[in-house]
Amino acid sequence: MAKTVAAYTLGCKVNQYETEAVLEQFACAGFLVVPEGSPADVYIINTCTVTSLGDRKSRQMIRRAKHENPNAVIVVMGCYAQTAADEVAALPEVDLVIGADSRSQIFALTEEFIKNKERQIVVHDISKLSEFEDLSITHYENRTRAIMKVQEGCNQFCSYCIIPYARGRIRSRSIESAVREARRLAESGFSEIVLVGIHLASYGKDTKSADLLDLIQAISEIDGIRRIRLGSLEPTLFTEEFTKAAAAIPKLCHHFHLSLQSGCDETLARMNRKYTTAEYKEVLDRIRTAMPDSAIATDIMVGFPQETDEEFEATCRFAEEIRLADAHIFKYSIRKGTRAAKMDGQISPQVKDARAKKLSSITRRTQQEFLERFIGTEVEVLFEQYHQKKKGFYEGKTGNYMTVCVPGDDSLEGTFCRVRLLEEKGGVLYGEIVGED
Ligand code: SF4
Repeated sequence: MAKTVAAYTLGCKVNQYETEAVLEQFACAGFLVVPEGSPADVYIINTCTVTSLGDRKSRQMIRRAKHENPNAVIVVMGCYAQTAADEVAALPEVDLVIGADSRSQIFALTEEFIKNKERQIVVHDISKLSEFEDLSITHYENRTRAIMKVQEGCNQFCSYCIIPYARGRIRSRSIESAVREARRLAESGFSEIVLVGIHLASYGKDTKSADLLDLIQAISEIDGIRRIRLGSLEPTLFTEEFTKAAAAIPKLCHHFHLSLQSGCDETLARMNRKYTTAEYKEVLDRIRTAMPDSAIATDIMVGFPQETDEEFEATCRFAEEIRLADAHIFKYSIRKGTRAAKMDGQISPQVKDARAKKLSSITRRTQQEFLERFIGTEVEVLFEQYHQKKKGFYEGKTGNYMTVCVPGDDSLEGTFCRVRLLEEKGGVLYGEIVGED
């Protein structure tokens, strides 16, 4: 009987991609990939360390996997494994700890462990790495949209962030390798590609042979790819030139995730972010002028060290002013080894909770206003799956990432339709199909 492998993934889209790529190594060697939560012979735990909650959840997943099958091999990879290898290896459940430069060898290392039962920590200093580790996928969990990693690492050193230590400096995938993978994905039936990286705006800055626009252009020439979506971006990427060129690529989705982190200039400076609120606003105006249906999403952090009530209120006012389509609000969390961890004026959990609640209520309101703007219009939807709560309804996404639901069944999966939008309820737009695209 074939051996089985299951994976637990925490964190961002880059981690999701890396899990898929690692599972493919096992599948190619004859392992059966089973869903998370099923008994398996090998568990891959792809961890996250962006907040202390990420560390805690990573440890919980390791324990949960061992509980599901006490005889299973437990392999831990990801950012928590890279930054706290000894801490992870000290957990009795763990057999292998794999660092950020050894993902491509996970299957071979697991086989070795199965033979000789020797626990190993394969984690190296990654601060000097300059080569992109080429992993690859041919399929993806969601059958219409595939995530593709094209960039690794970050050189920004925001004062709160541990990621440059977990991922190393910037490294870009070659255009040839990215195009090869995108072509394979198109042949497997994917019509939408999401390009992701740790600091995607840095794509090509290391190799200097091509930039992000060249990459988008090259992928947009592939038959079968109808949409290209970009992962999280630095707002400073959107110069006049970039915005104009991006607006001229018809396959590029008008959905941009631009990390804001704070709407107060003093806080941004302490965070070592490289823009001011005025510059951020200027970028939004530029994008909205060039691509008026653009949905702008963001991350905002509350409770950064020394954030006063006035500073937080400035962030709230800014969030009202810029009226985003979506926002992920999260609470600052101390990351050992970062500059912010040593700052005076750490904020209490109660204050962080209250601030997160207040800001979320503002961004929820602006999100609803954004969706309501489209009621009565016709949009193109790529259908993906049954609506989880409303029986008999099928849902998909627009280019600008609004969720749209229509009465229908799985014959809609993977199709592009024109939908007239009728109403908004709970963050979802309901409509009727008016034609196929
Ligand atoms: S840009 Fe800043 S927040 Fe983003 S990964 Fe780099 S250091 Fe972390």
